[in-house]
Amino acid sequence: MDSTQPARILVVGGGYVGMYAALRLQAKLTGEEASITVIDPRSYMTYQPFLAEAAAGSVEPRHVVVPLREVLDGCQVLSGEVTGIDHTRRSVTVRVADGHVEQLGYDLLVVAPGSVSKTVPVPGLAEHAVGFKTLEEAIYLRNHVLSRMDEAASTVDPELRRKLLSFVFVGGGYAGIEAMAELEDMARQAAPYYQNIVPDDMRWVLVEAMDRIMPEVSAPLASYTLDRLTERGFEAYLNTTLRSVEDGHVVLDNGVEFDADTVVWTAGVKPNPMLADTDLPLDGKGRLRCTTKLQVEGIPNIFAAGDCAAVPDVTSKEPDAVCAPSAQHATRQAKRLASNVLAWLRGGRLRGYRHAYAGSVASLGLYRGVAEIYGVKVRGVPAWALHRGYHLATMPTAHRKSRIAVDWALSLPFRRQVVATGEQHTPRRQFVRASNG
Ligand SMILES: Cc1cc2nc3c(=O)[nH]c(=O)nc-3n(C[C@H](O)[C@H](O)[C@H](O)COP(=O)(O)OP(=O)(O)OC[C@H]3O[C@@H](n4cnc5c(N)ncnc54)[C@H](O)[C@@H]3O)c2cc1C
Repeated sequence: MDSTQPARILVVGGGYVGMYAALRLQAKLTGEEASITVIDPRSYMTYQPFLAEAAAGSVEPRHVVVPLREVLDGCQVLSGEVTGIDHTRRSVTVRVADGHVEQLGYDLLVVAPGSVSKTVPVPGLAEHAVGFKTLEEAIYLRNHVLSRMDEAASTVDPELRRKLLSFVFVGGGYAGIEAMAELEDMARQAAPYYQNIVPDDMRWVLVEAMDRIMPEVSAPLASYTLDRLTERGFEAYLNTTLRSVEDGHVVLDNGVEFDADTVVWTAGVKPNPMLADTDLPLDGKGRLRCTTKLQVEGIPNIFAAGDCAAVPDVTSKEPDAVCAPSAQHATRQAKRLASNVLAWLRGGRLRGYRHAYAGSVASLGLYRGVAEIYGVKVRGVPAWALHRGYHLATMPTAHRKSRIAVDWALSLPFRRQVVATGEQHTPRRQFVRASNG
């Protein structure tokens, strides 16, 4: 590295790790010390714990994302997708938004492209299911569920109506449970607006391969959650997998089969597959092998953290334990990573990452929730308030916090808006029809 020139820092991914690390670096580094470029195909960071509330209409979807160019005014933000990393040449390949491919050199690299939905080969899954990881999927699902209700209310075919009102969620981690519970709550609230739909006409089905839901919380709290959901009318199949979903016909491996027009895949995540197109060391699950100092093993000028990284969990009694993919770790790792990057650039001492998992908070619809913080179990309204309070506090920027708080405040005097604007997914349809006469 030429010490007379500013160090070139590239950050791959502007999510939790990328955005928080870049925020801290831009605050601490001068232009003479370093230039920082953040590369992401999206122009915003997504606060994923609020996706379920965005899908349910409790908060405006745009309020749960943080525009990168607004907050990273000391960095260059490049809209593009990293398709490969060649460490031996210190080069990153980027497919830029306009389609052309660029090679960017770096002195220091931060790798944080997160994870993608972990799928298994199930016939019909790719054609009929949707994930729940992005803002676009949350918006789509909200419009999809409400437009199924619109269609069901209008059809005279009882079989089609049953299919339209059947909603299946595969995977019972907290993200899947929150998404399903929030959307059901929204649909239940929408039902009175339809003269011929009552909540019991809808079928909400959870399919989980393990013998319990929500592995993030203790077994008694998970079982309490499941009891509350079944009381609300959810059908839950544990120790069960989805065998096929061809033509919208759902077949479970326990012999149950039925038609459903909505299948949501929430069965966990896997590290970003782009990492396979690099010469960086990966573990058996495809994660970047990292040291506790958040450097990639054997490569001191590449740092990584978050869902894509196998960071040793030094608080665990298991010898080879790594930190679970969670926002809780990603946010804290980003701060440690940025401090270590500064120390590395300035010849200081790098410190190890250490954080004992504090627990989880989950919303199950308006005024309902579960939480477990340092082993203390909380249920019902207090847990729901804890969920909202915690996430409002950790949501980045005062601007976003205020907008979310206002969304919540407005839903006290007025009910949530339950209107499907599904045409936004095909905005040119009407115009093309008009143009073609
Ligand atoms: C619905 C949902 C709810 C959740 N709720 C909670 C919760 O309540 N509590 C909790 O602790 N955790 C929660 N999580 C998990 C948490 O959001 C993740 O662990 C966290 O976002 C990981 O941060 P990250 O920076 O590694 O990845 P991300 O935040 O996903 O960021 C990755 C970024 O990389 C970008 N990217 C991807 N590919 C490329 C590429 N090839 N080139 C350049 N950029 C790329 C993406 O566009 C994205 O901006 C939830 C997750 C989901 C899906």
